Amino acid sequence: MKKKEIEPFFATLQAANPEPETELEYTTPFELLAAVLLSAQATDVGVNKATRKLFPVANTPQAILDLGIEGLEGYIKTIGLYRSKAKHLVEACRMLVDKHGGEVPRTRAELEALPGVGRKTANVVLNVAFGEPTMAVDTHIFRVGNRTGLAPGKTPLEVEQKLMKRVPPEFRLHAHHWLILHGRYVCVARKPMCWKCAVAPYCDYKPKTPAP
Ligand code: SF4
Repeated sequence: MKKKEIEPFFATLQAANPEPETELEYTTPFELLAAVLLSAQATDVGVNKATRKLFPVANTPQAILDLGIEGLEGYIKTIGLYRSKAKHLVEACRMLVDKHGGEVPRTRAELEALPGVGRKTANVVLNVAFGEPTMAVDTHIFRVGNRTGLAPGKTPLEVEQKLMKRVPPEFRLHAHHWLILHGRYVCVARKPMCWKCAVAPYCDYKPKTPAP
């Protein structure tokens, strides 16, 4: 994708969805952090189903600690890898209570120091909860970044760094949401729906998938 094509690429995605939001349901930074921790290799729909029951009972680090690992497992059993996720979430809550007064910290280093929190999770929390223009590269963004030629890279970190360099500042806050949604619903893994893709004129992928 040429530099001059990047602006219309994002302007087109923006026009279709001016205020994109995460599909995970949350009302506080801690709920968001917990939901993102639970969402690895699981669908947002599946996580929402579990957290709709969990959060009314426990939506603070201390309340999750009070629930304990077994109690927590009871709420998240329907989510893949729930045992290790329960362990990580309880350990993270312990650290939040002990070191951060029960609040979610706002720096990447402090977030990544929490058990179970990697670079991608930290990026989601920084972006969605605290409004920082970070790029949380998941499988969809990795694919779209490479396929379109917007941000080619061999690793998620490479794609993230290219995005930070190439996405114009005015689109940086929402860029990762637009790319995730585009990858989830249009530029899908097996057969991208190029025939109904609004950004096809700017995308390098060839040959484009024809209409069925
Ligand atoms: S034209 Fe096809 S490959 Fe390119 S972004 Fe659209 S759906 Fe994806």
